[in-house]
Amino acid sequence: MDARGAQGGHGERIRRDAAAAAAAAAGTRLDPWFSSYAERAHGMRASEVRSLFAVANRPEVVSLAGGMPNIEGLPLDFLADMTSRLLRERGPKLLQYGGGQGEEELREQIVEVMRHDSVHAHPDDVVVTTGSQQALDLVTEVFIDPGDVIVAEAPSYVGALGVFRAYQADVVHTPMDDHGLIPEALDRTLGELAAAGRRVKFLYTVPNFHNPAGVTLSAERRPQVVEICRRHGVLILEDNPYGLLGFDSEPLPALASFDSQSVVYLGSFSKTFAPGYRVGWAAAPHAVREKLVLASEAAILSPTMMGQLSIATYLQTYDWFQQVKEYRQMYQERRDAMLGALSEHLPQAQWTVPDGGFYTWLTLPEGLNAQSMLPRAVTNLVAYVSGTAFYADGSGHRHIRLSYCYPPPERIREGVRRLADVVRAEQEL
Ligand code: PMP
Repeated sequence: MDARGAQGGHGERIRRDAAAAAAAAAGTRLDPWFSSYAERAHGMRASEVRSLFAVANRPEVVSLAGGMPNIEGLPLDFLADMTSRLLRERGPKLLQYGGGQGEEELREQIVEVMRHDSVHAHPDDVVVTTGSQQALDLVTEVFIDPGDVIVAEAPSYVGALGVFRAYQADVVHTPMDDHGLIPEALDRTLGELAAAGRRVKFLYTVPNFHNPAGVTLSAERRPQVVEICRRHGVLILEDNPYGLLGFDSEPLPALASFDSQSVVYLGSFSKTFAPGYRVGWAAAPHAVREKLVLASEAAILSPTMMGQLSIATYLQTYDWFQQVKEYRQMYQERRDAMLGALSEHLPQAQWTVPDGGFYTWLTLPEGLNAQSMLPRAVTNLVAYVSGTAFYADGSGHRHIRLSYCYPPPERIREGVRRLADVVRAEQEL
């Protein structure tokens, strides 16, 4: 996990230009509108995760690839009654447009949820979004001109990298270790970029149970990261969808709890409740929040009323934190199944030990390539995401993201056993 810019050397650039020219020629033949696309659309492509979906979803394949939450334990009868009551009692509101910032009754609840991360916000600081994915898009739209730099962990969430690419940002990675972002390296990266005259707009970070690395930023490092960014005049984009899903400990204070004026905090109900409602949020300094609301209104007019009022009612009337505890226990059992199986079947690899969330990050033995190994893995009925998906510069070949969130423990163990067979076969080549 070392520091790397998105720019490769001269040879690499020539290779990329040649590949782009070939793609353009092929594109013109296949798509009559190819030459009409905006420049940013040429950078858009299906993520390695999405293109795996069709294969990974076949029942005979054990998928350690997707990051889908396991929502089997949700109280469906309660939700069915709640939804029908909501429609009967508040139908005209539920089925109407709402305000661009989101419903106040939900924003009040969101403020309570954020208290678990020691964030003390006001409902007016919050913008409700269509999942935190839309919040990522809005923040990037509001801050990034083509060529601006975003500093992001190496590796980084693939969905954020896709957004950053769409806005033509230049992503510069900064390294992590088992305790998250390394403050000294971050300081050095920001210093070098400033010395080179590059404009860094924000640091993108997932401090808790990182997707894909599985690590958590330590308590000691949190104020250091905030101080370094403040000193360099760099905003922090703190993405925290997994924060409440810690296995053994209470949540660490969010970066936003140290300096709410220098941090845009993103939260989501996708992992602690259900992703289908598509409700997330951003909490931001007042002027930024204003811009985010304007950008959101331009994009979607208003967030889903059905989703917002359903979640507000669920939070008000159900023991939602008990549900979170049940999720924690289920994911912990799955994490244990995965790490146990890795120790048993793949001792020649290394992996991170997540204290929460959905993922572990595997480092393959020297000489193996996760991307070129994938077809053999799929033939052997196991799917994973190659580490290359999580770097803006396509590096990460020796790494694999393994998700333990979805398959039951015995399938996880079977998946790891199959993966170990694949690794052994590759080592024998
Ligand atoms: N950020 C991270 C780090 C994620 O892992 C995800 C979902 N995989 C998201 C944001 C987006 O989540 P949602 O839009 O469902 O809130």
